[in-house]
Amino acid sequence: MGNIRQRIAELNQELIDLRRDFHMHPELGFQEHRTAAVVETYLNNLGIHAERVSKTGVVGLLKGTKPGPVLMLRADMDALPLAEENDLPYRSKSTGISHACGHDAHMAMLLVAARILSEHREALAGTIKFVFQPDEEVAGAIRMIEDGILENPRVDAAVGMHIWSPLESGKISITPGAVMAGLDVFKITIHGKGGHTGSPESAVDPILAAANLIQTVQLIQTREISHLKSTIIMFGKISGGTKSNIIPEKVELEGSIRFLYEGGPDSVERPIERFRRVVQGVCETHQCTCDIDIHTENIPLVNDDGMVRLAKSTAKKVFHGEAIVQGSYLASEDFSFYSSRVPAVFMFLGTGNASKRTNLPHHNSCFNIDEDTLRFGVEMYIRIAMDYFTSVDQRST
Ligand SMILES: [Zn+2]
Ligand SMILES: [Zn+2]
Repeated sequence: MGNIRQRIAELNQELIDLRRDFHMHPELGFQEHRTAAVVETYLNNLGIHAERVSKTGVVGLLKGTKPGPVLMLRADMDALPLAEENDLPYRSKSTGISHACGHDAHMAMLLVAARILSEHREALAGTIKFVFQPDEEVAGAIRMIEDGILENPRVDAAVGMHIWSPLESGKISITPGAVMAGLDVFKITIHGKGGHTGSPESAVDPILAAANLIQTVQLIQTREISHLKSTIIMFGKISGGTKSNIIPEKVELEGSIRFLYEGGPDSVERPIERFRRVVQGVCETHQCTCDIDIHTENIPLVNDDGMVRLAKSTAKKVFHGEAIVQGSYLASEDFSFYSSRVPAVFMFLGTGNASKRTNLPHHNSCFNIDEDTLRFGVEMYIRIAMDYFTSVDQRST
């Protein structure tokens, strides 16, 4: 299909312009109205039928000239409620909102990939579903799945990619198994019996119970779950009491449990079940009662082995061998809701470059990306689609 790299080079300015346009006009989750209009118009101009889904999401279908499976390529669209502090000609024009996670780059890369793929329909033995997803930061994927994004036509496999500042520019990380963490958020209320600190025997002290609880739950990751299975239990908020000589009625604790493996109720690790047991046990020891509220914000993002093999062989055509690395992270990403339903791979595209100051953490007010790495992302999207259709074709013949 011609010289892909040359075509990407021809479109490099368009790629950067798209990214900067999204960057200047960031929008929060499910408010990506302008963003969605830009994406929809761009796809329709390519002859890719695009329509809105899930309020501000956009889906475009590119049918190859030969029949075959359906591959979903996904980019997220939302920005963060964070004021940009970069002094750039294309800095955010929206007060208090910025693309500090790099989703502006994801959309630009996928749109330019769509342009080049649409120029080569005759080489595609299958259908590409381009999915532009709102509200990644608050699990917008769930809404898209509920609205049927994986159906009509049914998606056979999915590919996602995140620009990644902790990884050096020019590298890509492709890793089997769990690559991003499951995240459960909890709120615990410990109920005691209020009283005078001069006669603690006539009261039930929830503060001592809370102190003990914070210590004791740490045994879950240090003594109960293998150290090879990353688990982090963190408390982010604790509140209780009004005065130094009053034993309060209750103490409230909030925090999170992150884990880098499939930690559901059927797993060996069962972090949530252990957490409930320890919390209840400690409260009982202190003669307190407790309410435990835990809700899942994200499930672990687990890559499919076959899709990882495919992505690695594709990456060898785009990167030098030593630039293809492995790594997992305890941040979360709602691509996990797709990867738990269809074979999928999620990759990290390095954009960290100290000389360009693009190695700051994601969600930092001065976060920025190395635009010279975008073309690698475009090439990965294009080639992995081609390779996926070829690999399925070979398996079925
Ligand atoms: Zn983010
Ligand atoms: Zn992100």
